[in-house]
Amino acid sequence: MNFNTQSDNTQTPLLGAGGLVIKTTPNDNVAIVANPTGLKRGAIVLDGVVLEEDIPMGHKVALKSLDEGDEIIRYGQIIGYANRFIEKGSWINETNINMPQPPKLEDIAPPAPDERAFVTKNIPPSGVRGHFMGYRNPDGSVGTKNILGITTSVQCVAGITNFIENKIRKELLPLYPNVDDVVAFNHSYGCGIAIDAPAAIIPIRTIKHIAQNPNFGGEIMIIGLGCEKLRPERLLPENGELVNGGLVSNTQLTNNQSTNNQSSILYLQDEQFEGFYEMVDGIMEMAEKHLKKLNQRKREVCSVADLVVGMQCGGSDAFSGLTGNPVAGFAADLIVKGGGTVFFSEVTEVRDAVHLLVPRCESAEVAQKLKDEMAWYDNYLSQGQADRSANTTPGNKGGGLSNIVEKALGSVVKSGTSTIVDVVSPGEKVRKKGLNFVATPASDFACGTLQLAAGMNMHVFITGRGTPYGLNMVPVIKVSSNSKLANRWHDLIDFDAGPVAFGQKTIEEMGWELFQLILEIASGNKKVATDKLGLYNDLVLFNPGPLT
Ligand code: CA
Repeated sequence: MNFNTQSDNTQTPLLGAGGLVIKTTPNDNVAIVANPTGLKRGAIVLDGVVLEEDIPMGHKVALKSLDEGDEIIRYGQIIGYANRFIEKGSWINETNINMPQPPKLEDIAPPAPDERAFVTKNIPPSGVRGHFMGYRNPDGSVGTKNILGITTSVQCVAGITNFIENKIRKELLPLYPNVDDVVAFNHSYGCGIAIDAPAAIIPIRTIKHIAQNPNFGGEIMIIGLGCEKLRPERLLPENGELVNGGLVSNTQLTNNQSTNNQSSILYLQDEQFEGFYEMVDGIMEMAEKHLKKLNQRKREVCSVADLVVGMQCGGSDAFSGLTGNPVAGFAADLIVKGGGTVFFSEVTEVRDAVHLLVPRCESAEVAQKLKDEMAWYDNYLSQGQADRSANTTPGNKGGGLSNIVEKALGSVVKSGTSTIVDVVSPGEKVRKKGLNFVATPASDFACGTLQLAAGMNMHVFITGRGTPYGLNMVPVIKVSSNSKLANRWHDLIDFDAGPVAFGQKTIEEMGWELFQLILEIASGNKKVATDKLGLYNDLVLFNPGPLT
């Protein structure tokens, strides 16, 4: 199969008569029904095509008659093959499409130096400027919130850390008004695990790197039990390791280590504690030391270059790739152009579009890393007797996404058009400014967790079907792909990209609006819906290793 390496996803959609259907590229032989109530049989759409049957919003109409085996083209790419004759004007969905095989990794050539994709579309060549008020950390990284993070080394302590979190919020936070919140990171890892299995490194470094998220200001506080396999010391920064984007000096480390045992790690099994309330007192005392330091943090002027934005989608529909994701992609380009960092993730949602991404890698090495992450995940899925097609949900299909190929082609659009400067494995931190691929599962919580570990200080989350997803460690800007959702969930959605579908606003206009909103939220001037309502999901560690 031949794959085009050109993607025209970000071009202005072509609207049908009355603006009722959208075709992404001139080569497409399907269009998406944009009318919020769907379209009835007999409706006349683009190119005079008459609908043969009722088609719901977000679903595809055949713009020409297709024979069995004919290619079905959306985004200028093959999203499947007709599994029977499909008459012009008919509804195309998962029942009449056969899914293509994913691109063969070995067939995708690394980028030639002169063929690399650069930020080219609609971006002022002079660069992008913008400022926000952030918390600059001693190592140069920047927080968008000021949070006391409590890391745990094992699930056994979760009952107590939950108790402590509430107690700190009630009794200590009022005394430290510059601190926004206290967040205990409870997880299911730490013991009963094959800690020496190769895959164990993923959850271990995830926990360790989340403790170093810029929003925690370098104040690391770990609660352990004492007998667990995951030693809390393994969760502290190592010599020469980057903390919050800066390199730890030997002096800093010596200072840190000298105070580690008093101020960074507490074991509940420590014999000095007699009973629960003494443990509580011990943790409160430790928390207060960190709160004192965090309380001294002040917001100061920071630039776009200090943003680290994680892009994710969840509950996608057919509009995601037309509105929300291209708008997010445009904003991503602006941030990269301004010197900032953006990453996108979700391996199963890029696997079928990887032929479009490899040519955008900065070097053959980065391209190889991208392919290696895809191959690792192919293997991970096949061990579970699954493949990337397990990704799509009933909601995706209900929203018009027939298969993972169509979903992936729309999903990668949120990466914008910049060069991919690095590929980061699950649980690792980003090393380079610019556009990165951070390998994660597409599962919203596992992805968000790994993006926190990668060092994001801002999260942009695009949804079509709707999800109340929120994280307490970073602001989550929720972008809806369609106005129907934004209107219904007026208090849960932060940004409606729906007007793009009807040509009321352009991708460029809305991309700038989203960019400005990111800066405003990063400054703390405005709160995202989930922060206003206090709606937060649990973090979920990606643990591909065995339990014992
Ligand atoms: Ca997701």
